[in-house]
Amino acid sequence: MVNEKLRNSILVIDDEPDFLSIIRHILTAKGFEVETAATAAEAIAMSGKRFYHITVLDISLPDMDGTELLTMLLRIQPDTIAIMLTGHSSVQNAMKSLNRGAFGYLEKPLDPEYLLSTIDQGLEKQRLTMENRQLLQELEQRNHDSNILLAVAQSISQSLNEKEIITRSLKIIVETENADSAWVHLVTSGAYNFSSSFGLSENIIGELEACNPENDIVGSVFNNNRPLEYQPINNIFPISPMLNSLTRNNYHSYAGIPLTIAGNNLGVLSVANYRGYYFGKREMAQLCAIAREVSIGIQNARLYEEASSAKALRELDCLRTQILANVSHELRTPLTVIKGYASSLIQPDVQFDESIWREFLVAIDQDADNLTELVEDLLTMSRLESGALELKKEPLTFEEVIKSARGRLEHLAHKHILNIITSRDLPPISIDSRRINEVLTNLVENSVKYSPEGASITLNACQNGDKVLVSITDEGIGIPAELHQKVFSRFFRVKTPASQSRNGTGLGLAICKGIIEAHGGRIWLESEPGKGTTFRFTLPTIESGGNNHG
Ligand code: ADP
Repeated sequence: MVNEKLRNSILVIDDEPDFLSIIRHILTAKGFEVETAATAAEAIAMSGKRFYHITVLDISLPDMDGTELLTMLLRIQPDTIAIMLTGHSSVQNAMKSLNRGAFGYLEKPLDPEYLLSTIDQGLEKQRLTMENRQLLQELEQRNHDSNILLAVAQSISQSLNEKEIITRSLKIIVETENADSAWVHLVTSGAYNFSSSFGLSENIIGELEACNPENDIVGSVFNNNRPLEYQPINNIFPISPMLNSLTRNNYHSYAGIPLTIAGNNLGVLSVANYRGYYFGKREMAQLCAIAREVSIGIQNARLYEEASSAKALRELDCLRTQILANVSHELRTPLTVIKGYASSLIQPDVQFDESIWREFLVAIDQDADNLTELVEDLLTMSRLESGALELKKEPLTFEEVIKSARGRLEHLAHKHILNIITSRDLPPISIDSRRINEVLTNLVENSVKYSPEGASITLNACQNGDKVLVSITDEGIGIPAELHQKVFSRFFRVKTPASQSRNGTGLGLAICKGIIEAHGGRIWLESEPGKGTTFRFTLPTIESGGNNHG
C-alpha cells in the first residue's frame, strides 16, 4: 500500500504559502510525491510537463478563477483526479466544480483526514478507470487480431491451391498493417524455394531469391523451429546477406516465423518493416497465429493434391481395366466364331459339302471384317483420346461430302427409305472428308440398326449461322432422355432388350463425338423413346474461322 502511494503524485495549487507548506508536509508524510503551484499559470505549465495522479486546487486564485483552471487542467490531463478547495463554501461553486469534472469538493479549513480519504477514493476511481480503459483497449486489440485471423482463415479456406493460399495470407498480413512486406520460403526435402511475396519491390525479390536462405536467417528460423526478430536489423546481424539486402532497401525490422504443422516444418514466413514499426510481443503472437493458419492451409492443399492424384490414378486404373475387359470381350466374340468355323473345316475326318464350306468361309470372312473394323475403331478411339488423330483437312462443300458418301449410305440403308436433303449453296467447310464420312456412316448405320425395316431415315444438311448443321433422323426405338449424354461415352450401350438385341461395341458414337469436336463442331441428339431419334452435328464454315488445318 505504501509502495503504491509512493508512486502517486499530487499537484497542490493554492496562493497561500503557509497552507501549501502544511499540505505538502501532511501528504509527503503519507508517502505521496508532492509538488505545489501558487498561481494558475504555474499550474498549467507544470501540468503540461508531467502527469499528476491528483490535482488539489483552490477555487480562488489570483490569476484565474479556480473552476476555469479546473477545465483547463482536465483538458491537459483528463485522467487526473481533481479536488477543489475553497474558503467560501457555496452550493453554487460546488455544483459548478463537480459539473466541470472535479472528483470532490472540500472546504477550508481543511480536515487532513477528510482530504486523505478523498484522495484515496479518487485514486481508487482512477485505478478502476484506467484498468477499464486498458481492458477495453486489450479487448479492441484482441478483436482486431481475431478479425485478421478470421480473415486469413476464411481466405485460406476458399482455396485448395498452395500458392494461392500463401499469396492471399501475405496480402492480408501487409494490408492489415501487421507488416510492410511479407514473403514465404517453402522447404521441400531440404531445398528452399522462395514461394511468394507481398509488398516487396522486384529489385529486392531478385536479391532475396539470390540469397542462400539455408545459410541465412531463414535457415536459422527453420532449423531451430522458433520465431526470431531483429530490430533494428542493421546492428544485429550484419553478416546475413538477406538482412543486408533488407537494410540497403531501408527496412528497419525483420521477423521470421516457422511454418509448422504437427511437428512437420513446411517453411518460413518472413516479415519486414520500415522504420517506425516494431514487432512487439503482441505482433509476434499474432504473426505466429497467422503462420499456424497458413501452415494448416498449405497442409490441406497438399493433402487435397495427394488425394486428387491418388483418386485420378485410381480412376485411370479402373478405366484401363474396364477398357481392357471391353476390348477383350469385343475381340473374343468374332475370334471365337472364326476359330470355331476354321477348326471345323480343318478336321481331317469330317467331310463338308461345298455349300457348307462356302457358308463357313463367308462367316469367317464376315467376322474377319468385323474384327478389322473393331481394331480400326479402337485405333481411332485411342488416337482421338491421345490427340494423335491427324485430320487431313481440305476445303469442301457438304454436297461434295455427300457425293462421295451417298453410295455407301444407300447400300447401308437399302432396307429403309433413305432421304438425303442438302440445302443449296452451302458454304465451304474445312474437313477431313474420310473422317466425316465415318461419322455419317456410323450415324446412318445406327439408324438402320435401331429402327425397323422400311422406316425412313432422313439426312439433312443446312446452314445455321456460321455453321453447317447436319441431322440424321430415324423412326426407331429412341433413346431415354437421361442417356442422351451417356451414349457418347466409349463402350456405352443402352441396356434395353431392344437395343441389346442388335450387335454393337458402344464405340461408334464416342468416335463420332471425337471427330466432330476435332473439327471444332458439336454433336448432340434429340429423341423420344418409341418414336425415333435425331442426331445433329455442326461444322464451322471456313468464313467463321473453322479453316485451321489439324
Ligand atoms: P453401338 O455399337 O452399340 O451401336 P454406338 O456408340 O454407336 O454403339 O451407340 C451407343 C448406343 O446408343 C447404342 O448401343 C444404342 O443403344 C444407342 N443408339 C445409338 N444410335 C441410336 C439410334 N439411332 N436409335 C436408338 N439408339 C441408338
